[in-house]
Amino acid sequence: MEFNIALLKGDGIGPEIVDSAVAVLEKAADKFGHTFNFTPYLIGGCAIDETGRPLPKETVEGCLASDSVLLGAVGGPKWDDQPGDNRPEKALLGIREALGLYTNLRPAKLYSALRGASPLKDEIVGDGFDLLIVRELTGGIYFGDRGCRQGKYGEEAFDTEAYSVTEIERIGRVAFESAMKRSKKLCSVDKANVLESSRLWRKTMHRLAEEYPEVEYSDMFVDNAAMQLVRNPRQFDVIVTSNMFGDILSDEASQITGSIGMLASASLGETTRGMYEPIHGSAPDIAGQNKANPLATILSAAMMLRYSFGLSAEADAVEEAVDRVLEKGFRTADILGDSADVPLTCTEITEKVLEEL
Ligand code: NAD
Repeated sequence: MEFNIALLKGDGIGPEIVDSAVAVLEKAADKFGHTFNFTPYLIGGCAIDETGRPLPKETVEGCLASDSVLLGAVGGPKWDDQPGDNRPEKALLGIREALGLYTNLRPAKLYSALRGASPLKDEIVGDGFDLLIVRELTGGIYFGDRGCRQGKYGEEAFDTEAYSVTEIERIGRVAFESAMKRSKKLCSVDKANVLESSRLWRKTMHRLAEEYPEVEYSDMFVDNAAMQLVRNPRQFDVIVTSNMFGDILSDEASQITGSIGMLASASLGETTRGMYEPIHGSAPDIAGQNKANPLATILSAAMMLRYSFGLSAEADAVEEAVDRVLEKGFRTADILGDSADVPLTCTEITEKVLEEL
């Protein structure tokens, strides 16, 4: 099969980790007899430097014309003084909206080989955990009305959380369908004891739950969910939640796996075109030093093979190659733990994945 992949390398460690994932995709294409064509486009700070805008029109058009999109990360101190609507991170919201990507799938898996990297005690993590956070991506407070005004105490600013039944239903369906493909267990996280938008969220999820009697469904308030994730993460399988709660809980889930450098994500919409990216940022502190962990981006590429191209065997092969690299004890600096070993560089661990593949 032949697919066109848009590459948005972005800033900081973005180019290093995307190059690693491209090497792995090329190897997978070779092994299984496919052709992947890669076209790079600018996004984020590097796009501001070249064009004055974080999300140039050519980037949006290029992504829309591709079969799928692989993104590194954007942002860095160089662009911190940009005005709000011209910040590198603004491009992420823009590209998700332009591609109609309303679902974010964030697996948080603690590999048994990396148990020691988790900050949680052994008796809590057991032999590891594997949960999936389904985050709504194009609604809620990040897209609602906002502004500044004079209030009772002088200058004030506001942001608005708004959700429609349509938006809740479509993310709910993705979550129930995901639960059906896994262990048929779904927890919906909201703040229905305080927020009107959460009460509509909960009512809509309950209606959907009736359509999926096989799924063991539960609700949880977000403050409790934040506690339960560190108290007993193994109680969860699929979690569905709003844009902002998902943003925060998925970072917490990433932390308890031990490394932000291991976690992949997929953003999906109505078509098979998705955007795949690691959940971490551009890590300016280690950029250009060949120290970045590329595994989250490689695992994101595996999600692309599975969700956008329907190439499950190829996705399994990449994921298993990563598993074997970890089982053999190879580590980048971020997942070294207390070991006295010398960490591998970004290119060295990529080589190990290629060898296993
Ligand atoms: P970050 O995720 O970039 O870094 C946090 C810490 O984790 C740093 O110590 C970094 O070195 C480490 N880290 C992250 N990814 C790693 C990897 N693959 N391998 C090894 N170590 C890794 O978060 P931050 O420092 O808060 O943000 C830096 C910049 O990235 C900011 O400009 C922020 O806005 C941006 N950002 C972008 C995205 C995105 O593009 N999706 C997401 C989050 C943050």
